[in-house]
Amino acid sequence: MTGNRTFSIIKPKAVRSGYIIPILSKIHEGGFKLIAMRFTQLTLNQAQDFYAVHKGKAFYEDLCEFMSSGPIIVLLLEKENAVEDYRKLIGATNPDEASENTVRSLYGSSVQENAVHGSDSDENAEIEGNFFFSATERF
Ligand code: ADP
Ligand code: MG
Repeated sequence: MTGNRTFSIIKPKAVRSGYIIPILSKIHEGGFKLIAMRFTQLTLNQAQDFYAVHKGKAFYEDLCEFMSSGPIIVLLLEKENAVEDYRKLIGATNPDEASENTVRSLYGSSVQENAVHGSDSDENAEIEGNFFFSATERF
């Protein structure tokens, strides 16, 4: 990936709440192209792996339990300046602090249940995309 792709998850609570299509609409309006997408569910071990960078933090165990609590949607997205522009589209980690009309302000319900994940760097976008999608699923 060369700065034009990012990776996202629609988190279990947003899936449970029926927000998949509204969130995909925001992503579309934001100018992102879908490269790969599917439903999956993480085991606790896989969630711990995915969020390993946060191991030891107070919220880590709860976060991993939450992220493995139900189906999620995983997404590979393409746009110029994808990582930064997607972080802008989703807003701050805490939905209460996220700017108006961002995905997290519209569809998040708490810091933990903040509707979506978005990669924080080109390097992590590639690592996270590879975590979920095989080569034959990426175009
Ligand atoms: P972001 O998802 O905005 O990159 P972080 O990487 O800091 O945020 O945290 C990863 C995820 O962990 C967040 O999206 C959120 O679900 C959860 N999280 C972060 N900080 C807290 C916190 N203080 N309390 C509960 N959950 C948190
Ligand atoms: Mg992060």
